[in-house]
Amino acid sequence: MKFISTRKDPAETSFKDVIFRGLAPDGGLYLATEQPNLSDLISTFSGETEFSAMAAELTHALFPEDFTLEQATAIAKSAFTFSPRISRADGNIDLLELYHGPSCAFKDFGASFLAAVMEHFLFGENKRAIILTATSGDTGAAVAQAFFGKENIDVVVLYPGGRVSPGQERQLTTLGDNVHALEVRGSFDDCQRMVKEAFTNKNLKEEFPLTSANSINLGRLLPQSFYYIWASVQGRGSPIRFCVPSGNFGNLTAGALAKLWGMDAEGFIAATNANDVVPEYLEHGIYTPRPSIHTYANAMDVGNPSNFERLQTLFSHREMGDLISGFVVTDDEIIATMERYYKKQGVFICPHTACGILSSERYLKAHPGWNGRIISLSTAHPAKFTEVCQKACGKTPEVPAPLARAINGEKKSTIIGNQMRDLGIFLRETLGR
Ligand SMILES: *Cc1c(COP(=O)(O)O)cnc(C)c1O
Repeated sequence: MKFISTRKDPAETSFKDVIFRGLAPDGGLYLATEQPNLSDLISTFSGETEFSAMAAELTHALFPEDFTLEQATAIAKSAFTFSPRISRADGNIDLLELYHGPSCAFKDFGASFLAAVMEHFLFGENKRAIILTATSGDTGAAVAQAFFGKENIDVVVLYPGGRVSPGQERQLTTLGDNVHALEVRGSFDDCQRMVKEAFTNKNLKEEFPLTSANSINLGRLLPQSFYYIWASVQGRGSPIRFCVPSGNFGNLTAGALAKLWGMDAEGFIAATNANDVVPEYLEHGIYTPRPSIHTYANAMDVGNPSNFERLQTLFSHREMGDLISGFVVTDDEIIATMERYYKKQGVFICPHTACGILSSERYLKAHPGWNGRIISLSTAHPAKFTEVCQKACGKTPEVPAPLARAINGEKKSTIIGNQMRDLGIFLRETLGR
C-alpha cells in the first residue's frame, strides 16, 4: 500500500513515512493511492475468529511489503490486549462496545496499534519520536496510555483547560514520565490549530522529530477499520448499518474504508451533537466549518472535522449521501436518551453513545420497511462521564479499574497560551537537546 496527500502533492509515500509524518507536507491528509479488495480474506473470518488474530491478518494483507504475517501478529498481540464486544441494545439495535481498553474509549484501538507499529519501526534504529496531539478528551487519554513508558518516544498532549471532564483530565495528567500534559488557555479548535501549525512550521520540524497521533494519523485510523470488519462478521446474515457518534469523523472514515475494502455493510449513520456541519453538508451540499459548540458529548465538540477532507476525497456529495445518513442530537436529547435507556435497560451509556442510540432509533423510524440491524458504536465507558450520568440518571456507574487508577493519581500539567509559539517555547524548554 502506498499513500498520497488529499491535496496537490503527487508524491507516493510509504506507510512508515506516513505514520511518522502524520500530516502530509502540503498540509493534506494521507490516503491510500488505491483501496485494496480484501473480500476474500474477510470471507475466511468467522464469528469465532479472535479480534487480534483478525487484526494481524488484515495488517499483513494491507501492508505485505511492511510486515510479514509473523511481524503483524506480534504487533497485533502487543496492541490488542483487549477486544470489542457486541451486546443487544434494543429491538434491531446492537451495541458495539469499544471501551474495554486501557483508557476505556474506542480510541484505544488506534492509539495502541500506532504505538506498536512505531515501536516496531524505531526498534534498533536508536531514533527518537515526539508525539504531538490535541485532544478534546479521549484521544489524549488513549494516546497517553498507549505510549506511556515506551522507549525513545515522548508524548505531548494539548487539551483545552476546563473543557474536558475531570476524569478525562486525570487520565491525561497523572501518568507523567514520558507523557507531558499541556493545559491550553483556549478551545479544542485552538489546540488542533496549534498542532497543525507546529507540523507545518519548518524550524520546529527541523528541531524536533514531531509526529502526530490524532485521527489525522493513518496509523490510528486504519486499525479502527478492523472492529467494523469484526462486527460485520459477527452480524453476518442480515443487512447491517453502522451508527457512528462523530466529531472529527475519523471513526466514520475508518468504517467507510472497511466498506471500500469489501466489508459487508449497507452504509452508515453519522450521529453528531449540536456540532452539525456534516449532517448539514449531507442535506444541503454546503460545508460550513464554524467554531465548535460545547456539549455534553464533548469528545464530539468539533466545528471543523479534520477527516472531512478524506471523506470528500473519497466520495462525491451524492456518493456520500448514499453512504451516510446524518442525524443531530441536542444536549436535552442526550440527557433524555441516557435517562430513558437507564430506566428501560438498567444500563448506563455515555453521552456520545446516547447520540448514536437516538440516531439509530430515528433511522429505524424513518425507514419502517427496512429489515436490517443497526450496529451502534458505544464509544466510551459511561464512568468517564459521571457528572452527565448523575444529571441524567440520578446515579453514577461503577468505575472500572483503569479509570480508578487514574483518578487516584497526582495531576501534573503545564498551563500554556493558545498560540503556536507557546507550544514552541515548551518544546524547546522541555524536550530540546
Ligand atoms: C473521539 C470520540 C468520538 C468521535 O470520534 P471521531 O473519530 O472524532 O469522529 C465519539 N465518542 C467518543 C467517546 C470519543 O472519544
